[in-house]
Amino acid sequence: MSSLSEIPVHAKDLPKFEDHDRQEQKYTTCYMCACRCGIEVTVEDNNVRFIRGNRNHPINKGVLCAKGNAGIMKQNSPAKLQQPLRRKPGTERGAGEFEPISWDEALDTLSERLQHIRETDPTKLAFFTGRDQMQALTGLWATQFGTYNWAAHGGFCSVNMAAAGLYSIGHAFWEFGDPDWDRTKYFVLWGVAEDHASNPIKIGLEKLKRNGAKFVAVNPVRTGYQAIADEWVGIRPGTDAMLALSMIHVLMDRGLIDQEFLVRYTNSPFLVVNTPGEQGDGLILRDDDGNPLVWDLEQEAWVNGLDPEVKPALVGEYTAPDGRPVKTVFRMMMEKYLDNRYSPENAARICGISAEDIERLALEIAHVAFRETITVDVEWTDWAGRKHDRFIGRPVSMHAMRGISAHSNGFQAARAIHLLQTLLGTIDCPGGFRAKPPYPKHIPPGIKPAKSAAPNTPLSGPPLGFPKAPEDLAIDDDGNPLRIDHAYSWEAPVSAHGLMHMVVTNAVNEDPYPIDTLIFFMANMSWNSTMNTKDVMDMLREKRADGEYKIPHLVVSDAFHSEMVNFADLVLPDTTYLERFDTISMLDRPISEPDSAADSIRQPVIEPDRDVRPWQEVLVEMAGRLGLPAFTNEDGSRKFQDYKDFIINFEKSPGIGFLAGWRGENGDKDLKGEPNPNQWDRYIENGAFYEYHLPENTRFYKFANKDYLELSKESGWNGSSDPIVMELYSEPLQKFRLAGQGLYDGPQPKDPAIRERLVNYFDPLPDHYVPLEEQRVDNDAYPFHAINQRPMMMYHSWDSQNAWLRQILAHNFLYMNRQVGEKLGIEDEGWAWVESHNGKIRVQVKLMEGVNENTVWTWNAIGKQKGAWGLSEDANESQRGFLMNHLISELLPPKGDEKRITNSDPVTGQAAWYDLKVRIYPAGPGEEGIWPEFDRVKPLPGQKPASETLRYHTHDAVNLRRSMADVISRGEK
Ligand code: SF4
Repeated sequence: MSSLSEIPVHAKDLPKFEDHDRQEQKYTTCYMCACRCGIEVTVEDNNVRFIRGNRNHPINKGVLCAKGNAGIMKQNSPAKLQQPLRRKPGTERGAGEFEPISWDEALDTLSERLQHIRETDPTKLAFFTGRDQMQALTGLWATQFGTYNWAAHGGFCSVNMAAAGLYSIGHAFWEFGDPDWDRTKYFVLWGVAEDHASNPIKIGLEKLKRNGAKFVAVNPVRTGYQAIADEWVGIRPGTDAMLALSMIHVLMDRGLIDQEFLVRYTNSPFLVVNTPGEQGDGLILRDDDGNPLVWDLEQEAWVNGLDPEVKPALVGEYTAPDGRPVKTVFRMMMEKYLDNRYSPENAARICGISAEDIERLALEIAHVAFRETITVDVEWTDWAGRKHDRFIGRPVSMHAMRGISAHSNGFQAARAIHLLQTLLGTIDCPGGFRAKPPYPKHIPPGIKPAKSAAPNTPLSGPPLGFPKAPEDLAIDDDGNPLRIDHAYSWEAPVSAHGLMHMVVTNAVNEDPYPIDTLIFFMANMSWNSTMNTKDVMDMLREKRADGEYKIPHLVVSDAFHSEMVNFADLVLPDTTYLERFDTISMLDRPISEPDSAADSIRQPVIEPDRDVRPWQEVLVEMAGRLGLPAFTNEDGSRKFQDYKDFIINFEKSPGIGFLAGWRGENGDKDLKGEPNPNQWDRYIENGAFYEYHLPENTRFYKFANKDYLELSKESGWNGSSDPIVMELYSEPLQKFRLAGQGLYDGPQPKDPAIRERLVNYFDPLPDHYVPLEEQRVDNDAYPFHAINQRPMMMYHSWDSQNAWLRQILAHNFLYMNRQVGEKLGIEDEGWAWVESHNGKIRVQVKLMEGVNENTVWTWNAIGKQKGAWGLSEDANESQRGFLMNHLISELLPPKGDEKRITNSDPVTGQAAWYDLKVRIYPAGPGEEGIWPEFDRVKPLPGQKPASETLRYHTHDAVNLRRSMADVISRGEK
């Protein structure tokens, strides 16, 4: 065989390749979904040539998904907003009549209005953001403005996951924690279609497969990740808590519990007062200093449960020194979960999974946890200064997301899954479910939600926080909500992310008060991000008797022509993610991994080709104009020239800023240090991210690891280096329950319906209850659960405009179990009506095997309103695509004379998207096509025409033909 060098080259025959000298590679962070992969973008003449994964990046290690690649077509989308717009004077809101205005005019108008609001009543401004990645900035801005009517989209996304974790184990699924993909031997995935953590999950699953780990997927639908699972558990929607608690029943029954872990790291040995019907029932027995008491078996005495030397009773029942009966938390758990209610036989009836399978799954995970234990032989020191020669790992891990979260019982379901993990001792250990810095946090984190506002005054703290008791609620003296979304009210006391899905309804109902200006950033709140789409559209148009809109001023900032833009009075066009600076900050939700603290940036890789500005710049500009204190020097001048300047120089506390890398004047400090004027440059040189590798002795048991806890305090991640005691029993929940029972020594709700919610759903131990909509509708009339799944190739509504991704999926079907469909007389690809208590849609059905028989489902956010998103009028998305949202209500079905309240988790306010119950029947003869249809959205001034082009190239194809010699020498490739 001849070597390549011997193959004759005929230079004149070589095709003309592109000129690489004109190309430049720039690193930034992908934003085609929320996953935050590192990308390398090749740019030529201010055009994206192509996008590759950044091989060195901690999140994706070079992997790029279909969405990430298709960022090119997002950049070239005709849906890009072109310039600031104002609703034409004299036209009606929602009519789609806009006129261009200059940025100066837009910002003058807005700042004048906001100035007045701030000077009179700052809460008249409601500012809510969608899937942005700079909540640390928007939250700071709202705090400084003085309105607590701020939140991001978490309330309709996955607050149940975050809150359940932060009220139980100190970290949570996705951004706050990860399975130990390298070491786990048994992995259970709960309620995950395509997840927020997209590439990392794929990379992780690949590792599991290579390592021979077992992968069990619990999901009503066998799509996506479930399709490569070793075992698919096709559970009935909304019953996951019962499955987890029944597995706990089996583990407790067999004594398969890591008792040492529970004693050392959880509140299992704490004593709980057991005086039903009396004040103080269910609270933890404490000494005069507030320390939890335990019964020490060696000393035979009441001692401080936080003392590291105690030998507490785990299963006990005593009489406290003050004469009250008390029980350990663990004993309460045993009494509860060993009850027949949680037996596999009973759970089987509820979950639609056989009792044998439930028992087998429980025994399998116990086997792996206790018989296949692993160790990492690194010396470490626990919080009490005791040395250990290794980390012991119980290699069972879990991950859960929207399928658990988007139910009105999702908070308790996620807590149940955390309880299951904790009983096995799999929290932040080798092979288990690990925490990612800045997590774990103390339980719950010490920030309380702001609850007072005054003119021209910043809030005393951030709008969002973590209530520990009814005193922390944002309610007035009569118990009414203070916030427009009713977060932190009796309706949803632990709503740590707000309730964005309630803002329009409450504002229009002036409940609790009218607002003046509503700003939405990057949130499609009139379409796929809202429940009850049609009514919300009507509400946005609704007027008072004096002819003024009930929401007088509606500002929308977005990069694209979403359906929501159509309702704006003022449109502020944002840049794309390739055109701006951005931070994925340690103050927000960074890109950390369990072994490292990491954050990242975006930088503009191309210049905008239209009159748009990054929303971050607009916020910094507005803060300067309004004189918000954190953005203003003492002499009243602007402190920060632009967003970059702000990011470099703003310090939350001395040495702690938005970016943790290359701090200090010379850029030689990690995590904490003075501002570094060259910080952005250092990030850019390093591929747009920073990673601080945790010392080996701090990587596990972070909740009790002295060196980690000290690092976390020093870096500003936690307020103290005290150990983080996991709260399997939640005393904060019990305080709310006592308030519902009328036994709380503090604020209590008056409304009997609210009291009942607190009593029924605020169980301090994780529990299962039937989702609220299911409790209220006639389940014989509406027998099916209806849910959405997010496809791998689209991030919610963001990608239906994308010429490449649309070729994979441009319309959706309603999928249902084949046998069930046939029994109902529904044909494959036949048309059917789907009805809920709130509405009715006509859709095309696909019959399939891999779906729970009680469940119908579809892909999320594929349907589009005609004319939106730069799509042509006959685009499949608006002709054949549909939304389930028309069926869902933001309010629970009525019950007697009760005031209708939010269709959300009663604990956290998480939107209960997946509680939907429907009936389905074949459409009649001639009844075909999607219904309902909505008016066409008019084109915006200056909007590019819808593109018919599906391909993208910056160069002509090279048409390289290989020589026969090359084929012979290197083979056919
Ligand atoms: S997973 Fe998300 S962030 Fe990562 S490449 Fe794909 S779209 Fe981009």
